[in-house]
Amino acid sequence: MKVLNIEETKGRYSFLFGDEKNNTDVYFCNCGTITKTIKSENSFLTKGDIFGDDEKNEDEYNDVFKAIKLSENDVICNGCGKNFASIESQKKLIVNNSFFTSGYNILEDTDNLFLYYSKIKPNIKPRENKNGEYDLLFDESQKYLRYEIKSNRVFFKDFCVDETEFDLDGVIKTVDAIFSEEVNEIQNIYYIHVYINKLAKHVIDVKNINVVDELLSEIRSNHGNAGLGVIKKIVFIFLAIIKYTNLSTIAMTKGCNFLYELMKECEIPDSKSLKELSLTSPISIFNFLIKNYIRIINEDVNADNRELHQFLFKSSKAKTTDFEQEKVASYKELKINFIQNKKYREGKLIKNINKNKFHVLQISSDAEVSKFIYKKINNFSDYKQLLKYFKFYNKQQIIYLLQKYEIDLLVNVIDLIYFRDSVGMKEFERIISIIKDYAFQETIKNRPTLNIESVTIDYYYIKKFDFIYYDDSVMMMEVLKFDPKRHFNKIKTYHQLVDYHDNLVKYFNVVSDKEKNEKFKSFVERFVFLESREDYDGPIEIKLIKTPSMLINEGIQMKHSASSYSKKVITESYVIAQLFDKSDDKPKDDLDRFTIGFTFDSLNGLEFHQIKGFANKPASDRLKKMLMEYLTIKDVSFRQVRDLRTKG
Ligand SMILES: [Zn+2]
Repeated sequence: MKVLNIEETKGRYSFLFGDEKNNTDVYFCNCGTITKTIKSENSFLTKGDIFGDDEKNEDEYNDVFKAIKLSENDVICNGCGKNFASIESQKKLIVNNSFFTSGYNILEDTDNLFLYYSKIKPNIKPRENKNGEYDLLFDESQKYLRYEIKSNRVFFKDFCVDETEFDLDGVIKTVDAIFSEEVNEIQNIYYIHVYINKLAKHVIDVKNINVVDELLSEIRSNHGNAGLGVIKKIVFIFLAIIKYTNLSTIAMTKGCNFLYELMKECEIPDSKSLKELSLTSPISIFNFLIKNYIRIINEDVNADNRELHQFLFKSSKAKTTDFEQEKVASYKELKINFIQNKKYREGKLIKNINKNKFHVLQISSDAEVSKFIYKKINNFSDYKQLLKYFKFYNKQQIIYLLQKYEIDLLVNVIDLIYFRDSVGMKEFERIISIIKDYAFQETIKNRPTLNIESVTIDYYYIKKFDFIYYDDSVMMMEVLKFDPKRHFNKIKTYHQLVDYHDNLVKYFNVVSDKEKNEKFKSFVERFVFLESREDYDGPIEIKLIKTPSMLINEGIQMKHSASSYSKKVITESYVIAQLFDKSDDKPKDDLDRFTIGFTFDSLNGLEFHQIKGFANKPASDRLKKMLMEYLTIKDVSFRQVRDLRTKG
């Protein structure tokens, strides 16, 4: 198959060939004249001279080769007088053996529909036995997609490889391969559009006319010049539907982009497996495809769930079975008075058992919840975001949230709260109302011409919300022993929050530092052994966060969620410290400053909970290992939660 007509194209280019044997450079000008020059010294440069041992491709070498050759001397064509060294001419001067043009073509007969791609390079050869004479030839490399109409089978032939058949599971790879950009100049993109229209005829049945229309209109709205991105997507969906017709039901209910994202994100099986399971309805196909995906998300979400992980190290103080007596003894040495903490512990344990499980997996076993979510989501990334809510809530709660709030709002809010201390449902509803109001205020502020009554909130602004006012207020209330139920829990707007906060500051300021800090400090000071260098003298340095204001500043400086734990510090169940990595051999890109959090209860003592760098960035494997060593020496329990899990 002749894909490209080179006759017209080659007239736009000139070609350069270095004849080593005769020590000449040979220029084939597009005017038809051949000009020879004696090689200058730097013409003998090889790829190694130019790049050293770096692995560079042929094209890069050719570009540099050409630039070096033409950098010093003008080279004039004997026929038309063109200067090959001029910038304009250099662009159209092709070094032997580099691809300079490419393009598409189609071929259709009664049995097959082909989409061809070919790329072309000059191949100049000295004539045998005729010194100083040359043949200018062109080598073409081809690849193609073949659709066998009657059998509904699809095949791909890559450069230099035999044709192979592919199925649904190979569609993404194949479409990427046929449209990979190889050469700057691409001719006849028009033929891809013709191809799409012809392929569409085989995709069309009564059921999925909408799908084809939706996709073709995407091209039309681009005035026939849709980018390769859109084209790839369309060919991908057409081939996918050809291989498994029922996929069109997903495209029909959720749109083609949804189907495209879904299939890119999930491992698609071959069409035979889907047929054997007789998956036909959109929801049954969707549920099947996302199973693997849910497993991955589930693992990710549960990486933070301590209940699911074994202890890697258990403090000697937590190991004893007869803990009442033993613990009193051992903690007395540390002067830890845990009587006031006991009550809280009991409450916490009950909570843990019932509420703190992560429920992501429920969704794959529950057709109802899945159906509900499927109906609500607009695109696949929404789905990914919603799954994160299973870190805090169960399926009924999530269905409730989906009924009550716009999907765009929920999808944007989860990233703000994901690393915060667990957020109860009532608290979440208060928070989301404040955040929504914040986004509303920002929308108006940034586009003052809007008519306030018909404002559509720009949820982009949610990303800019931070919890400083919120967390600071919670902490001051705790210190001042204010009951949040009286005012704070009734706050609905961002302005109310800021006002409340500023008022609280006035009260807070009249309280003496001693009163402010005492509760916090007296608890935290029990853990000074974490700072001590007597038993541990390694590269990790710990500085306990000893006052409420230190904690709020830590959250501001580090842009993470540490301050959401303030309440737990004040109620004596959480310890927070700064961690510095003072290693001499610290790689340049590793962070050197972190915030570290420990849970505390009188039954188990201290347990490592999390470590977060700036903006919740994780620690390096190197630091995780040092940290485990540190924790062992300090006799602090830890499990293999996300923040300690090394990649190796
Ligand atoms: Zn010329």
